[in-house]
Parts: sequence; structure tokens; C-alpha cells
Amino acid sequence: MSSSTAPNLIAAVDEARQWDRLMQMARLGAITGADGEPGVNRACLTPLDREARRLLISWAQGLGLTVTLDEIGNLFLRHEGSEADAAPVLTGSHMDTQPNGGRFDGIWGVIAALEAVQAIREAGVATRRPIEVVAWTNEEGGRFAPGCMGSMAYAHFKPSNSWDAVADPAGVTFRQALDEHLKAEADLKRRPLGGKPFAYLEAHIEQGPRLETEGKDIGVVTGIQGSRWFIVELRGETAHAGTAPLSLRKDAVQDMIRAITALNALMTDPTDVLRFTVGQIEVLPNTSNTVADTVRFTIDFRHPDKDMLIANGDAIEPTIRSAIKNCEVTVTERFHALPVEFDALVTDAVEDAATAQGLSSIRMPSGAFHDAQFMVPLCPSGMIFVPCRKGVSHNPAEYSTPGQLAAGARVLAAALVELANR
Ligand SMILES: [Zn+2]
Repeated sequence: MSSSTAPNLIAAVDEARQWDRLMQMARLGAITGADGEPGVNRACLTPLDREARRLLISWAQGLGLTVTLDEIGNLFLRHEGSEADAAPVLTGSHMDTQPNGGRFDGIWGVIAALEAVQAIREAGVATRRPIEVVAWTNEEGGRFAPGCMGSMAYAHFKPSNSWDAVADPAGVTFRQALDEHLKAEADLKRRPLGGKPFAYLEAHIEQGPRLETEGKDIGVVTGIQGSRWFIVELRGETAHAGTAPLSLRKDAVQDMIRAITALNALMTDPTDVLRFTVGQIEVLPNTSNTVADTVRFTIDFRHPDKDMLIANGDAIEPTIRSAIKNCEVTVTERFHALPVEFDALVTDAVEDAATAQGLSSIRMPSGAFHDAQFMVPLCPSGMIFVPCRKGVSHNPAEYSTPGQLAAGARVLAAALVELANR
């Protein structure tokens, strides 16, 4: 990008237009939170999702972008480069929300991508490569689990029919919902599944408190931390709370406390990077005057460093075994995802754009999953974070200011131009 085009481009990103579009989207599935906050419930492949996509398509067509759709419903809005056959730069996020969701998670990444492309066109900035805005199908996994189906299918991580039988609470299968959706969008041009992008860049609210706490404008996302999830089952013996002597009990609750205390010691991290959560506990028979014979609890352990993820994750079971006194235990690992590292080509483009615009930034891993992690094997990938109030997401209280979101869109626009001219 030449220095003469940069100011035009930055000025062409329109804070009010981007905010207005977000608020228009927020009306589709509007809900009210517990304290009266305006939230959104827009599950994937519902009539509301279609309405949101139609609104996006109308804006894209108004700009002269080419709209296409693939077999799993991923939606693409294409801005041509000067070399039509060059591998495109891909940018976007998702439009679906959690059931009790907010107005920014996902949808901002799509609206910011459109805003960036519109600014590039209006500023008359030439790019060699095409830029494609993408809205991935079913990132949240709220209606059909798991999430990230659209990006997984695009990246050929899983075939697009892998989830045909997955049903929502009403008994509608993913295949039925997808077929209905593809029928409703039959007027759109179809494109083959997948592709070979030159790079992928996704803008997203942070979903954590770090940028706000540290007073930074932009998070240069270095990767997505790894996760290991476990279920621990402790089996003791039930007994009468009034009659059984403590010395003879096999109390599963007491062993759970010993296990979690030992795990807390294992997971102590002075740098506060490690994430360790026991979020669900099941006690049987769960009555106040009976010694529990069974306890099941979950462990969600995350870390951006692969060695740490493996070492501490592997130490979970032995730590529990040496801590408990009276129960039998089984530890089952039910999910294991190694950390994903983003590419310097993309992270540098984001950091340089922020610096050139006088915005403060930090390099940071993502604590949450995103579609971007499935792009990593395909092409150099990365993400831009902007602050969100108190780190809250997946809730109507989720909020970022128009100014914070505009700063993110400006960094996105400059980084896209930089990547699209490589
Ligand atoms: Zn999201």
C-alpha cells in the first residue's frame, strides 16, 4: 500500500454506517436480557438467519459485489482484484448467535469485512488480489452441535454431509434445515465447496477482558489456545449421614474436594495464562442426609503453549489418583485440541496497520474457538480483536463502542489491502 492511498482508505471507513448496519442486524432476532440489555437470538439456518443473510446480500449487491453460496450454505461476497485469477484474500466471520446472545459476536466480523471492502472501493484503492467476504454457516453450534461446521467443511476437515443426522431440540436435522435453506437461496449462484485463499483474516470482539483492562485498541491474535476436556467419575459408597462413622465412609464428595484441591495446585500459574475450570458437578444421590456414592465433574483445561497443554493435561489423572483416599476413579478425556498458531504474514500486517494508524495493540492468543482455526492448514491466517465491555460475550450485555469497532474495521481494511497486494 502506498502512503498516499492510506489516508483515503482510513477516512473511507464509516463508523456510523458500520454501526447502523450492526443495529439493523440486531433487530433480526432481538431479545431483551435480564437487565434490559438488547440481545440477539438468531440460530443458524432459521428464517431469521435467512433474513439477516438477505440483508447482507442486499448491501453487497448494492456495492456491486458478486454473491455466491456453497453446498453447506457458506456465503461469499467477492470484490475483484486487478488479477482475476490470483488467489483471493478471505475475510469474515459468522452471523449466527448463541440462544441468549449479543449484537456483536460473529456478525461484527462480517459487517467489518463488508465495511472494509466498501472503503477500499470508495477510496479507489487498487488491489492485485480479489477480496472475498465470507459468512460461515453454524459457527456457534447452539442449534446443531458442533460449531464451525461451515469452516470445517470449507477446509475439508470434515465432509459437508458429516452432520446430516444431527438434530435440533425440535427434531429438525441439520440436513433438513440446510436443504430448506439452500432451496430458499436457490437464486444465488452456487460455487464449489472449498478453495485456496492466499490468506484469511477474521475480525472479532475479544470475548475476554484483556484489551479493556490494559487500555489497548487492537488485539493482534497470535493463535488459538489448545483445549483438553475431561470427565472425572468418583465412585464410593452411599451411607446414612447420621449413622455411618466418618472413618468407615467412602464419601465421593470428600474425594472430589481432595482431587480439585490437588488440581488447583497443579494448575497454579503465576503468569495467569493458564485456564482451568471445573464447571459442572453431578452428585449422586444428591440428598442432604446421605453420603454421596458417586460424583462426576468436568475439567476444561486450556493453554496456548503445546508443551504445557500436554504436560499438565497428562498430569491430571495421576494428580487425582494420588489425592483421593477412599474412592475408585475414572478419568476420561473427551476433547483434545492442540494450540493453533497464526502466520506472521497476517499478524504482522495487522500489527503494522494498527501502528501506522496510531492505535495501541498487543499480541495475544484467543481463549475461545473461532472459524479461523480451521483455515490455518489452508493458508496464512490471523485475527483482529477489539475490546468488549468487561469481556462479556454470549450474552445480551455484550458491548463494544462504535469507535472501538470502527478502529477495528480500519485496521482490517489496511491489512486486507496489504495482503491483497502481495
Ligand atoms: Zn464468534
